[in-house]
Amino acid sequence: MYDLVVLGSGPGGYASAFRAADLGLNVAMIERHDALGGVCLNVGCIPSKALLHVAGKILMADEPTHGVQFSKPTIDLEAIRHHRQSTVDTLTGGLTMMAKGRKVTVFHGEGRFDTANSMTVSKDGSEEKVEFKNAIIAVGSRAIKLPFVPYDDPRILDSTSALQLERIPEHLLVLGGGIIGLEMATVYQSLGAKITVAELGEQIMTGADKDLVKVFEQVNKDRMSFLTNTQVTNIEATPEALNVTLKDKDGERQLAVDAVLVAVGRSPNGKTAGIADIGVRLDERGFVLTDDKCQTSVPNIYAIGDVTHGPMLAHKASHQGHTAAEVIAGHKVDFQPLAIPSIAYTFPEVAWVGLTETEAKKQDISVKTAVFPWSASGRAIASGVTQGKTKLIYDEVTERVLGAGIVGSHAGELLGELTLAIELGATLEDIALTIHAHPSLHETVGLAAELGAGTIT
Ligand code: FAD
Repeated sequence: MYDLVVLGSGPGGYASAFRAADLGLNVAMIERHDALGGVCLNVGCIPSKALLHVAGKILMADEPTHGVQFSKPTIDLEAIRHHRQSTVDTLTGGLTMMAKGRKVTVFHGEGRFDTANSMTVSKDGSEEKVEFKNAIIAVGSRAIKLPFVPYDDPRILDSTSALQLERIPEHLLVLGGGIIGLEMATVYQSLGAKITVAELGEQIMTGADKDLVKVFEQVNKDRMSFLTNTQVTNIEATPEALNVTLKDKDGERQLAVDAVLVAVGRSPNGKTAGIADIGVRLDERGFVLTDDKCQTSVPNIYAIGDVTHGPMLAHKASHQGHTAAEVIAGHKVDFQPLAIPSIAYTFPEVAWVGLTETEAKKQDISVKTAVFPWSASGRAIASGVTQGKTKLIYDEVTERVLGAGIVGSHAGELLGELTLAIELGATLEDIALTIHAHPSLHETVGLAAELGAGTIT
C-alpha cells in the first residue's frame, strides 16, 4: 500500500509526488501518456515558449535595427519543429530521471478510482490494482469544444495541433483572444500567416487592464486584426475555404479563411476517472471542490491544479502540489497566495499580478495607480523598446501595493519583484527606497513607485 498515489503527472502531479517523496513518503504516480509532464511540458507552456522564442528571432529582423540590416529570414519549419520537440524531450526526460532518483513508482495507464483507497490502472487490456492511504487528483483540464465547429476538418486547429506546425495557413482566424490564442497567433504571424482574432468580450486578454492591452494592440496593429465584441456563430467547411460567420452589433457577416484555431478556454477534468463516484464533491462545471489544504470532501483525497478553482496556470498547480504533499506528510500549511502572476509571452509581453484596476473598480476597493511610461526609460530608449509601461495599483490610504501590470519587452521577467512585493505587503515607499540598477527595465518599477509616492514628478 502506497502512502500516496498521485493521479496525473503534470506540473501539479509531479511537484506533489516529488515533494512527498522528499518528505519520506512511499509514492506512486499514474499517467496515461508515455511522457511525464502533462499538458504544460508536452503540449502547453514549454512547446509554445520554444516556438515563441523562434517567433521573436523572426520578428527582430523586421524591426528597426539601428544601423544593422538583417536580410529576410529563411524559415525551416522542420528545424523549428525539432527545436520545439527537443526542448520538450529534454524536460520530460528530466522528469523521468527525477522520479527514478526519488523512487517514485510510475504507472503508465488510465487510472480510475474504485474506492477512496484503491485505483485500477488499465493499459492495453491489462489491469493493475493500486492501493493507497492518500491520493492527489491532478488530472488537469482539456480544451473547450464548440458545437458548430467541424472538428474533423484538418484546417480546424486546437492548441495541441497548432503547436505541431503542420503547415502555415495564408489566413488564420483565431477564435478567442485569450493568452493561448494570442501566443499562437504571434507564432503563426511571424511565420507568415495573416491573422484575425475574434473575441466575444469587449477586449482581448480579458484578465489584464485595458491600458496595458492597448499597448499590445498598438504594437501589433499592422500584424494582426482584432475583432472584439464579436461572436463566431458558425463555420462552414468548403473545399476552397472555411467560411466563418461573425456576429457583432452591426449584424452578421462572412469571412473566408484557410484555417481556424479554436482557443476559447479550457474545462476541468473532474467528471472523469471515477472521481465523483467515490464521493468527491464537484461543482456543476466539473471543478473539484477543495479547501485551503487542497483537501476534497473525502478526507484522504486531495486535488490540485487545473481541476480545481483558480487560474489554470502551471505555477499555481505546482504550488498547490507542494501544499497537498506537505499536508499529507503532517505539516501545518495552507495554499493562500496573495498573488499568482499571469504572463502572455507575446510581443510585447503583457504581465499582471494581484489586483487589477478593473477588479478594484468592480469590487469597490479604493485604489490609486502609478504608471511609468517606458518612453522615459533610458534602457528602453537605448534598446528601442519604448512601447511599454509599468503600472502599480496600491491602496489609497496605506499605499500598500495590491497589484501590478507591465507591458513591454521582458515584462514577464520584471513581474517577479512585484509578486514578491505583494506577498510581503510592501508599500510604494518600500519599492521606491529599494535601489534599482540604472539603466535597467526593472528600474521602471522603482520609478513608478517614486511617481506614486510623490518623490519624483
Ligand atoms: P495537466 O498538466 O493537465 O496534467 C494532467 C495530467 O493528468 C495529464 O498528463 C493527463 O494525461 C493525466 N491524466 C488525466 N487523467 C488521467 C487518468 N485518468 N489516468 C492517467 N492519467 C491521467 N500555464 C502557465 O503557467 N504558463 C504558460 O506559459 C502556459 N502556457 C500554456 C500554453 C498552452 C498551449 C496550454 C494549452 C496551456 C498553457 N498553460 C500555461 C496552462 C498549463 O499547461 C496548465 O495550467 C498546467 O498544465 C496544469 O497542470 P496540472 O498538473 O493541473 O494538469
